Amino acid sequence: MARRTLRKSDNDKPYRVGRSRTGLGLFATAAIAKGDFIIDYKGRRIGHAQAQRLEARGARYVFEIDSRWSIDGSSRRNLMRYANHSCRPNAESALANGKIIILRAIKNIASGDEITYDYGEEYFELFIKPVGCKCAKCANEPRKIRLKPARTRRSSAQRSGDARSGRP
Ligand SMILES: [Zn+2]
Repeated sequence: MARRTLRKSDNDKPYRVGRSRTGLGLFATAAIAKGDFIIDYKGRRIGHAQAQRLEARGARYVFEIDSRWSIDGSSRRNLMRYANHSCRPNAESALANGKIIILRAIKNIASGDEITYDYGEEYFELFIKPVGCKCAKCANEPRKIRLKPARTRRSSAQRSGDARSGRP
């Protein structure tokens, strides 16, 4: 990936790990243009059987490359793992050279914005749906709460009228 070589050192990287609404998140420290490479998913490559073993133990950072290979991204050095899920993301994961998972911007991202991507249907069903999605989109558009029909003013007024009239 030619783009990576443009970033000379760690200090040049346009992101940092910071506090997000749900814990930690990945935040832009500079403007990132739509289409730009942001970060890659770092970790050791593991086979399908091992990936399944880790996932059965509750591992959440196993990223599938294809039917044979996955990346175990549980290391804290793998900063992409801090990028949170969003249902209205500004980045997406993609496979580069058939073997590297990268995160790239799908919108122009301003410095200070949280960098998010869609974790995909399988992860969503397995880990997010049971506890409810806490992404900015879902938090700002909460499901409408069905209210019990309230007593109308009229009927409560009638009731108090009845009570009064019942007094001696
Ligand atoms: Zn959401």
